[in-house]
Amino acid sequence: MAQRVATSDGAAKKTSRVRVAVRLRPFMGSEDEKDEGPCVRGLDSQNLEIVNWRNATETVKYHFDVFHGEKTTQQEVFLSSVKPILPHILTGQNASVFAYGPTGAGKTHTMMGSSDQPGVIPRAVREVFKLVKAKADEGGWDYSIGMSYLEIYNEKVLDLLSPSSQDLPIREDKDKNIFIPGLTHTTISCFSDFDKQFVPASLNRTTASTKLNHRSSRSHAILLIKVVRTQRASPHRQQTGKLYLIDLAGSEDNRRTGNQGIRLKESGAINLSLFTLNKVVDSLNSSAAVRVPYRDSKLTRLLQDSLGGSSHSVMITNIAPEYKYYFDTFGALNFASKSKLIVNKPFTCETVAVPALPVKRAREDHAAGGSGTEPHKKKHKDERKTEHDGSSPSSPFDSLSDPSVMDRLIALEKLMMNCQDKGELSMLKDVAQSRKEIQELKEKQKEFERKAMLFSRLDGEKSNAKHEPAFKNSAAPLQRKQSAATKANKQQAVVQPLQVSQLQPLQQLAVVKKQSVCVKKVKTISDQVEPPDGKENLVETGWEFQLDTSVLEQSRQKILHVLNTGSLKELKGLQQIGDKKAKLILGWREIHGHFLKLEDVLKIEGMTAKRFSTFMKANILSTMGK
Ligand code: ADP
Ligand code: MG
Repeated sequence: MAQRVATSDGAAKKTSRVRVAVRLRPFMGSEDEKDEGPCVRGLDSQNLEIVNWRNATETVKYHFDVFHGEKTTQQEVFLSSVKPILPHILTGQNASVFAYGPTGAGKTHTMMGSSDQPGVIPRAVREVFKLVKAKADEGGWDYSIGMSYLEIYNEKVLDLLSPSSQDLPIREDKDKNIFIPGLTHTTISCFSDFDKQFVPASLNRTTASTKLNHRSSRSHAILLIKVVRTQRASPHRQQTGKLYLIDLAGSEDNRRTGNQGIRLKESGAINLSLFTLNKVVDSLNSSAAVRVPYRDSKLTRLLQDSLGGSSHSVMITNIAPEYKYYFDTFGALNFASKSKLIVNKPFTCETVAVPALPVKRAREDHAAGGSGTEPHKKKHKDERKTEHDGSSPSSPFDSLSDPSVMDRLIALEKLMMNCQDKGELSMLKDVAQSRKEIQELKEKQKEFERKAMLFSRLDGEKSNAKHEPAFKNSAAPLQRKQSAATKANKQQAVVQPLQVSQLQPLQQLAVVKKQSVCVKKVKTISDQVEPPDGKENLVETGWEFQLDTSVLEQSRQKILHVLNTGSLKELKGLQQIGDKKAKLILGWREIHGHFLKLEDVLKIEGMTAKRFSTFMKANILSTMGK
């Protein structure tokens, strides 16, 4: 009987971490897209940065176990991310390698590759044969290698080696090994044996074209290589090691790819599996002993004995450099890494123009500068009019006008507006839009304050020499290049110091100021909000103390459940949650997955500590006894 060397339990937590590599593929877009430059780039072998869509003057920096840049070869990816885990499957342990990322970002290239650039799968299989041969020569054990190949499509398990088969069940034996009764398992004795089975079976995959990539797959393709070794001498122990090599379905938001009808259903199912995978990886990588929700989807159920515990797992997140992938890349990076850093890029000499479009007043517009800013703002608007003729201000600092932060905001806005069907604007766009509006208000406020300083200086001293930029604009490699249209529209305004980190404490992100700049501290939302440090925010009023702790915990769990699984309507059914907040919650879930704890709600735009406290009180009281 096959036995596992170790089973997944709390004690194995340390070894159960999923190693995460990110691979950025080379530019494949059109010349036009190339002109825009990349939206993401590597910094070194472990770090990368992407333009922050919440604030284009910043980048978001991510740290991973490995970062593979666009020049990384298939061999290098294999050697650093996959080869090291393979010897374990010869000793009865399990391993899994999966490629994650949006359609078109390089998952299939990474896993399968092509005949001239073979990917992880052929390389890994060759390596397993090599390792087995070397081990078998040592004596003591007999080895046999077998393969199965399946896909999960619409939460159905289909046998790719026996295409006529129906949905197969997933079972667990008494030793907690996961297996699929009825799944074809073929013994292979050399690489060409494998190839003969694998290539035609790959063609059996259910594929459907999307607007993003005609060859994209909407299913999870899972290759299983099983190594069984049997002791020659008594007691003839037998060990089975499993290696799963998985080309996951695309992680993109189906609304952006224009999927309709059945495709939408497929995407929903894909998202269920990916959503659960996210939760599983999260739980495994978190230091707390939390329940790992393997059973919530077919994919994670299948991987239950090969992801976590004593298994060895590597996730290769594939990303693309083009701007059109921006939100999917952002989502994929957030999936892959929970730790990120907002970095103030030293764009201190960039100019910010007043947005040409009327800015809708956002509910949170107090965040744009606190009380007392309106008269201040108005005054300088008048001054600008008299001095610069009209509402398009012309800055005395012509040399500072290029490149402009505004251009990048406009570019980002255009990107968001690029959705093909306005009626199907995604929740993500809603979130992006409201954030953008808030950001614009903030930018505007800062611009006015800066202008006030400059104009008062101009009144006193007319020397142009003084107008030399105080800070040289260092290279801004992630800056989107301007199109002719945005150039023509460009308005000159004032030096925009970097003072853009105000939202971040809400998101528990560390803020690093790379360059020391003279920044006038503007009162912002973060000044008014205590750090989201959990229950302390709640207990300040003491009302919770009067409740029974188990009742309280039950209520908290109920609220958390609604937050994580509730539809728009159900979310709106919560106290203190209106349409906009409900959409923001859905949007947050789209990007980040799920709320691990109730205090994560503080990361939602506009959810101040005070509002959160009211929200908690109202909902706990209303869920009690339900
Ligand atoms: P996915 O499976 O994620 O949808 P693909 O693997 O099909 O993406 O990649 C999309 C296109 O990009 C393919 O033409 C593929 O050959 C190419 N490609 C992806 N990654 C690389 C890479 N690292 N080097 C060269 N070409 C790549
Ligand atoms: Mg693919």
